[in-house]
Amino acid sequence: MVKLKTNPEIDEMREAGRVVAHALAAVRSAAAVGVSLLELDRTAREVLDDAGATSPFLSYRPQFAPVPFPAVVCASVNDAIVHGIPDDYRLRDGDLVSIDCGAQLGGWAGDSAISFTVGRARPADLRLIATAEEALAAGIAAARPGNRIGDIAHAVGSVCRAAGYGIPDGFGGHGIGRSMHEDPGVPNEGPAGRGMKLRAGMVLAIEPMLTAGGTDDYTCDPDGWTLRTVDGSRAAHAEHTVAITADGPRILTAP
Ligand code: MG
Ligand code: MG
Repeated sequence: MVKLKTNPEIDEMREAGRVVAHALAAVRSAAAVGVSLLELDRTAREVLDDAGATSPFLSYRPQFAPVPFPAVVCASVNDAIVHGIPDDYRLRDGDLVSIDCGAQLGGWAGDSAISFTVGRARPADLRLIATAEEALAAGIAAARPGNRIGDIAHAVGSVCRAAGYGIPDGFGGHGIGRSMHEDPGVPNEGPAGRGMKLRAGMVLAIEPMLTAGGTDDYTCDPDGWTLRTVDGSRAAHAEHTVAITADGPRILTAP
């Protein structure tokens, strides 16, 4: 069931989204060669704590997971696509890092992800990241009343496929509100003009994930969380929480 939000509720969600944006900005500026993923998680925890927010990621345990998620960010490096568990791995020159972060504030959730490189970037990684951001922007632009979920999926998928990248099967965005995952699902690919009609008051997390090798398959690490490309190629992830309003899309996790 889709729960529509009022404009004052969307304003409250913006505050949760702002905390996520701050946490991601702090992680990005802390990330450097030699810094560990656990240190990046600690950076995000401090931002959430300072804002009086909690983490919807910490202790989250969906059906597929063998253990509750132990951190406030997902940190997915190089061939890891999403859901990477922060550990003592220290970032190396040229790594491609995807950080996904959520916050729960005032009873509302925010969810956003960024990808970036550390040290000397490979041009191919910059192109992959730019395409993820472009796909996200295209999906957001399609998030308007009167359009359908399929219009978002088509916009996201078209940008990824035109660049020759893969789209991991079965993963995508989601409704978001009081909890991090609500209806409807927002696929990263699909035919335009299909699916649920978009209405003002819907809030969606739109999140393209791209694999450089072009395959849609993935494997899962023994930790039960980390998804990786099957061919060892790199992956990128970009996400915003977006409210659909009569005036168009409003990005609630913008800086
Ligand atoms: Mg996320
Ligand atoms: Mg999400």
